Amino acid sequence: MDKHTALHTCFGLSSFRSGQEALIDAVLQGRDVLGIMPTGGGKSLCYQVPAVMLDGVALIISPLISLMKDQVMALKNIGVSAAFINSSLSPEQLRMAYGHMRAGQYKIVYIAPERLAGDGFVSLAQSLNISLVAVDEAHCISQWGQDFRPSYLKIVDFLEKLPRRPALAAFTATATQQVRDDIARILKLREPLRLITGFDRPNLNFEVHRPKRKINALHALTDQRRDKSGIVYCATRKLVESVCDELSAAGLSATRYHAGLPDEERRQNQEDFLYDRRPVMVATNAFGMGIDKSNVSYVIHYNMPKSLEAYYQEAGRAGRDGERADCILLYSSGDIAAAKFLIQHSSDNDELSGEERRIVTEQDYLRLDSMVGYCKTASCLRGYILDYFGQAHGERCGNCSHCCGEYAERDITSEAQMILSCVKRAKDRLGYPVGATLIVRVLCGGKDKRVLELGLDQLTTYGLMSTVPRPQIRDYIEHLESAGYLRTDPVHGGVELTPMSGEVLFRGGQVLMSVKQSPVAEKAHTAKTEAPVGDGDPGLFTALKALRFKLAQEEGVPAYIVFSNANLADMARKEPKTMAEFKTVSGVGEIKAARYGEAFLQAIAAFERDGARG
Ligand code: ADP
Ligand code: MG
Ligand code: ZN
Repeated sequence: MDKHTALHTCFGLSSFRSGQEALIDAVLQGRDVLGIMPTGGGKSLCYQVPAVMLDGVALIISPLISLMKDQVMALKNIGVSAAFINSSLSPEQLRMAYGHMRAGQYKIVYIAPERLAGDGFVSLAQSLNISLVAVDEAHCISQWGQDFRPSYLKIVDFLEKLPRRPALAAFTATATQQVRDDIARILKLREPLRLITGFDRPNLNFEVHRPKRKINALHALTDQRRDKSGIVYCATRKLVESVCDELSAAGLSATRYHAGLPDEERRQNQEDFLYDRRPVMVATNAFGMGIDKSNVSYVIHYNMPKSLEAYYQEAGRAGRDGERADCILLYSSGDIAAAKFLIQHSSDNDELSGEERRIVTEQDYLRLDSMVGYCKTASCLRGYILDYFGQAHGERCGNCSHCCGEYAERDITSEAQMILSCVKRAKDRLGYPVGATLIVRVLCGGKDKRVLELGLDQLTTYGLMSTVPRPQIRDYIEHLESAGYLRTDPVHGGVELTPMSGEVLFRGGQVLMSVKQSPVAEKAHTAKTEAPVGDGDPGLFTALKALRFKLAQEEGVPAYIVFSNANLADMARKEPKTMAEFKTVSGVGEIKAARYGEAFLQAIAAFERDGARG
């Protein structure tokens, strides 16, 4: 079987995505690879295709127990024999799995890293014909990575105990070079093919808003998108509850998801969302893993996440169908403090030693800085993201709020000079730097107690900007900070000049800032393209979903294991009449054609016969 045949007949897909083919070719030749692709880019296929083609069994090391189960279920459903080994198995189940492995019955086995060392797995593995070892979420091996798991280090010991080292394939969506290098170094990859695929999602429109009241902005945004499906991410369970109540009270069909809800309710709410019974999901970041709903047309973040990796992953759940979709972040400076609190009090990783925890926390702060930079940048938002992931791009993307004319460049040189000299004079007088709030008060000519106590009303810059609203001065200060003309001491919070400040103060340097023309939330939202959804006849699509639901229930699997929404949309578009036509539908391979073809063809025929299209 060649790789194209595997892709068509087994996975039912028509073509490879960018990067997949090169990675698969390398693995097939026995070469190590390091594949760097965005979330949703299709990393699984890069090891699954070689795994079904090569002799022996492929071991896939993965940190997420829930995803393992899903992947194995999906593989079984397309006729690939697969299993998983993790702590959720009983001793009896484990014994059976080992037995099947010994008998060579699996093509793919998912395994949790901490299992590699235990329970006789090593001696079992030594007797197996291992076709390849894939390390999914490989950044977990680096303490500089966003989700360091010391148990990943066990992979190296494990590999060294094998009589023959198989090809090693590592995958991640990580941005930083340091982590990428760590992966190659710690895993001892042998001259790997390093491949970074495109991170850009051109159909996504990025916006950052800074509303006075977030809830009002959210109402405005969801009002403009009443007929659409979307996700609203909130930082806490409590916020999920209150935001969901607010939206529901405003007549929106919303549901909620967070880790504090009972399993049954979570399952039900997720399904209501997947089936568009409730098209709006309000959730914490616990929601979305492994969810492949194609028609999500917006993702709104009610709070800033703690890294750009997390943001891009969550926002990227919009527009999977390739239609234009919006990724909107509602930012307030309070989000920074909240994120810092979460970093300081994160307790989700008890594998870590004190020193490791210190490094992880430090990295978390750096990632947070980049995230804050995104919220504050005046330049192209997509460009900012692509920079972070190390991908070249044009100066302006034309599809983000900073490129789309909502902003205009303004010369703020004289405002900058006033602020910088106020910062300088305050420090000269007191001998230490003061915080931004106090600087704003001085510039406004405020009569606050602190200002008077410290004698800051004596400064020549006192009251210099008394005609400018305080929040506006704040914005200028934040802009000067992100442009490098000011810095805030992370410990004391004092604002200080930088070597660059002199450019503006003494050498006539010009400062430009993007200023919003009018608040977006109040303006009618005009989408650039309002193309039809392209899901075929909506009535047929609904009928196909109903059939999928019935089949899934009969088999006791989640609906997307039968077919994804994207698959059904393609089916509704193509309206296949014969088995041959059915096989051209995305997601339909030989096994699924045999298993489900008849039922879907009948449903399509019945739909057309009964003239269900009005
Ligand atoms: P990642 O692990 O990189 O986040 P996945 O491997 O989970 O991404 O794939 C994301 C989605 O993309 C899945 O629904 C998968 O079926 C789909 N996909 C992957 N490769 C292709 C392809 N070549 N053609 C169509 N769909 C694909
Ligand atoms: Mg993956
Ligand atoms: Zn842009």
